[in-house]
Amino acid sequence: MNTLSTSALLLLLLTTSAHAQQPFTVGPVTAAPGTTASGELTVPPRGGDQGTTIPISVINGARPGPVLALAAGVHGQEYTSILALQRLLTTADPKAITGTLILVHVANMPSFLARTIYYSPADGKNLNRVFPGKADGTLSERIAHAITQEVIARATHVIDLHCGDGNESLRPYSYWITTGKPDVAEAGRKLALAFGMDHIIVDRERPLDPAESVYLSNTAITRGKPALTTESGGMALSDEESIARIERGIAGVMKHLGMRADGPAPIAQPIMIERSEVLRSGATGIFQPAVERGHTVAQGTLIGRVTDFHGRVVEEIRAPFAGEILYVIGTPPISKGEPVAYVGTTAAGAGASR
Ligand SMILES: [Zn+2]
Repeated sequence: MNTLSTSALLLLLLTTSAHAQQPFTVGPVTAAPGTTASGELTVPPRGGDQGTTIPISVINGARPGPVLALAAGVHGQEYTSILALQRLLTTADPKAITGTLILVHVANMPSFLARTIYYSPADGKNLNRVFPGKADGTLSERIAHAITQEVIARATHVIDLHCGDGNESLRPYSYWITTGKPDVAEAGRKLALAFGMDHIIVDRERPLDPAESVYLSNTAITRGKPALTTESGGMALSDEESIARIERGIAGVMKHLGMRADGPAPIAQPIMIERSEVLRSGATGIFQPAVERGHTVAQGTLIGRVTDFHGRVVEEIRAPFAGEILYVIGTPPISKGEPVAYVGTTAAGAGASR
């Protein structure tokens, strides 16, 4: 074989391998092209805690393409996204997919098994406030670190699938985070449209520093990867409508990214929530809502009352501006500083605040 034909053969091999799907590995899990593989990331014990595991699956398509990471269960009582990914595991045909899906089935196992809202029973921290995490931190920080290093680092696109927490009665919406580089932000807007939920909260206030990204989806965005946070469901329910909405959303994003041939169309006429505000309780006691999710409220409308434990009203919470109730707390316990409701409007204003 002369030099020229050796070069030609080498070029052919390189070209072929560049266009053929490769095995895909996340932590200890490797999926060959056209197959699904499952396993778990291990977060070893440290500093007296027991450590934990993060169950994952890799659905590796037959052809190379985008790597879409889907995270469920960052908050342990948010069941709809966990159940939607369980379904995806059985309905997705890797041979028909272009690119790769990484499924994080239950990101926050300590909170899931203990059925806690907001905070981990292991360290009292909110997993979605400690990203990108720390290798030598508390358990929540080490979970965040593992997801950052093993999942977000391997993905080209990320969706963090939430719903209202176990105490939140929520109407469905996505957050479109605008703070990334312009091309990343625009790609994120298209992900929000492709997911298909009609309410999209325009979020202009996420941190820009990759070392202090705080939120899972923002960890991707600060690393130049388009990402989305979605909310469908709540109140610790496992209702069919909320689960199916997530399944449709994932199918829409996969269609948009060219990962599957068919799928739902993007939302054509989204309701862009330009201004939104989390209303918080100024007192600890018993919360009784006066509105429901999806209600339209005027400025000053009573959202709910906080009473002390002897029935005396200690606070009335009112809408700071006219808008829609995106979520309202649906269970009685309330501590000073905790959210009682989230109100938003299409009218431009101060932007998202929480
Ligand atoms: Zn959540």
